[in-house]
Amino acid sequence: MSQLEIKDLHVSIGEKAIVKGLTLTIHSGEVHAIMGPNGTGKSTLSKAIAGHPDYTITSGEVLLDGASILGQEADERARAGIFLAFQYPSEIPGVSIANFLRAAQQARMAEGEELDASAYYKRLYSKMDLLKIDRKFTSRSVNEGFSGGEKKRCEILQMAMLEPKFALMDETDSGLDIDALRIVADGVNTMRGPNLGVLLITHYQRLLDYIVPDHVHVMYDGRIVKSGDKSLALELEAKGYDWIKKELAASAA
Ligand code: ADP
Ligand code: MG
Repeated sequence: MSQLEIKDLHVSIGEKAIVKGLTLTIHSGEVHAIMGPNGTGKSTLSKAIAGHPDYTITSGEVLLDGASILGQEADERARAGIFLAFQYPSEIPGVSIANFLRAAQQARMAEGEELDASAYYKRLYSKMDLLKIDRKFTSRSVNEGFSGGEKKRCEILQMAMLEPKFALMDETDSGLDIDALRIVADGVNTMRGPNLGVLLITHYQRLLDYIVPDHVHVMYDGRIVKSGDKSLALELEAKGYDWIKKELAASAA
C-alpha cells in the first residue's frame, strides 16, 4: 500500500504562479478525479509532480510513501513509480512501440543488468492480451500517424508495462470519440486494483461515466476548492463551473 501526498504545493512557470497551494493525498487502490475549467493549472500540477523541468516548485512538498520526490529528476520519479500519461503524446518516427517499451524497461534496470528478451516479449504479449490490443500494433512507430484512440492505446500499454504505483492521466479523454474513450476506460479499469492509485484529470464528466472515481475534486485558480464523491462530477456537468466561482466569491465576501 502506497501513498502520494501533495502538500500545499505551489508551482510557477517562469515568474507566473500557476498552482497556488494544492493539497491532496492519494492512496493506492483509489481513483481521484480532478476537474476544473481550462487554464486553472491541472496540466501544470501533473507535470510538476512528474518532474518536468519547466515547472518550478516554489514551495510545498510531494511525498511518495513519506519520502520527498522533489529533488529527483523525472526519470528517477518514474522509477519510483510515478507515471504521467500526456494530454498530447509525442510521435517518435522510426521507433517501434515494442522497441520503445523495451528501452523504457531496460532504462529502469540497474546498470550492467540485461533485459531478457524472451521474458520481455512474454510480458508484453500478456499485457496486450489483457488490454485486448492486436499484436501488429507494437510494430508501428510510436504515435506516428496514430488516431486519437491509438495514441491512448499506446499510453495505456506503456502504463501496463511500467506498472506504476501512481498514474497521473492528464485529459486522456480530450478530443476522443466514444470508442477511444472506452479504450482508455477499459484499460484503466483493467489495471485498477489495490496496487495502483490514479489521478484522472478531466475537463468533462463523460470519462467518469466509464471510470467511476472514488473522489472528485474541483480545481480552480491553482487550488482545490471543493471535494466530494462521484456525484460532484454530475453536479458540475449539470451546472457548469460558474456556481463554484459564485460560491467562492460569496465565501470571500
Ligand atoms: P489546465 O490544464 O487546467 O487547462 P494549465 O496547467 O495548462 O491549465 O495552464 C495553467 C496556466 O499556465 C495557463 O494560464 C497557461 O497559459 C499557463 N501555462 C501553461 N503552460 C505554460 C508554459 N509552458 N509557458 C507559459 N505559460 C504556461
Ligand atoms: Mg490541461
